Amino acid sequence: MKLAMIGFGQAGGKVVDRFLDYDDRTNSGIVRSAIAVNTAKADLMGLNRIPQENRVLIGQARVKGHGVGADNELGAEVAEEDIDEVQNAIDSIPTHEVDAFLVVAGMGGGTGSGGAPVLAKHLKRIYTIPVYGLGILPGTDEGGIYTLNAARSFQTFVREVDNLLVFDNDSWRSAGESVEGGYSQINEEIVRRFGVLFGAGEVQPGNEVAESVVDSSEIINTLSGGGVSTVGFASEEVDLSATSGGLLSKFTGGGGSVDDGLDAANTTNRITSLVRKAALGRLTLPCEIDGAERALLVLSGPSEHLNRKGIERGRKWLEEETGSMEVRGGDYPRDIPEVSASILLSGVTNVPRIKRLQQVAIEAQDNMEDIQQESEDNLEELVEDDADDLEPLF
Ligand code: GDP
Repeated sequence: MKLAMIGFGQAGGKVVDRFLDYDDRTNSGIVRSAIAVNTAKADLMGLNRIPQENRVLIGQARVKGHGVGADNELGAEVAEEDIDEVQNAIDSIPTHEVDAFLVVAGMGGGTGSGGAPVLAKHLKRIYTIPVYGLGILPGTDEGGIYTLNAARSFQTFVREVDNLLVFDNDSWRSAGESVEGGYSQINEEIVRRFGVLFGAGEVQPGNEVAESVVDSSEIINTLSGGGVSTVGFASEEVDLSATSGGLLSKFTGGGGSVDDGLDAANTTNRITSLVRKAALGRLTLPCEIDGAERALLVLSGPSEHLNRKGIERGRKWLEEETGSMEVRGGDYPRDIPEVSASILLSGVTNVPRIKRLQQVAIEAQDNMEDIQQESEDNLEELVEDDADDLEPLF
């Protein structure tokens, strides 16, 4: 499907930048337009792919291009005040060619955490196409203020979008890595997971049409109904040369059948085990899949390695595991030496990670109030003389 992506704040901008890169590399055609919005000039300058004219600096009157720190209330205020400047950039998007908006932001900071929900609300008021959010949760080691920001932003963002896709940095950080190096890898994982999914509805001219192709409306239907979504993914390398003989002979009329060198039962088994791995392995937001309201299974890879039976079995298994009556599934044929299963689980509600985040956020909020009260008391004790003999000038 074709998306208009808007990256809000530093993480949001970097991830959208990386989506453009992914689109070029894989010829997926999912990013129709890309915009970055920030209160920090330096962050906008650090982007590589987003066109200069699509980089919008907001809040100049308030913060002079220096960012809002981690103050997401200020982030939200500035976004509201300068929404017209963001709209000017959005005006250049041919929205009739776009299936949905995707607003991307890190929820732990200030600009994206506060601004993304404001923008989503604005877009929903003006446009009829769906507005999705891609919200990134901070690592648990980032500290109380980031957790509190994320918990508050999460509540607001879910309410303002048609569906909030969540990616949890905490589940994906690897020990001993530099923060920047770590993010680079994490961002690659983000674009791959969501890229395969959104790319499924966007079969390029010249690509083979899948037996049961996933189209944009299936992605939209899976996301409709709102709530929170997570994505599972598993892949396995396959030997293209084993099948390219088949492909080549098809092109040359050599009479090679699709089953050349491939055992249908093996293909089906590989698919079913990939589906299990994807659903039970690491999800972008860890959660219990039981109770997910809707799901979409996308099997991608060389068409010789995909079959209807595998998809059907995978779909049935997902229905049993989730208890959902709405499990869609289909192919996304791609000439790459890899077969993969992507699973979008939408309307998940059993998410202990969010409950923990909220608990830590409440503790942080209470602590911050105590600390503020204590420091006010301490200052008063310092400034006032004990017997109250002195009087201030005015
Ligand atoms: P903002 O510019 O004020 O919106 O804040 P940032 O986007 O810099 O940071 C918000 C949160 O996003 C941080 O707490 C991190 O958890 C996360 N973050 C920052 N940069 C990246 C990135 O490149 N990739 C990912 N996945 N997360 C990031």
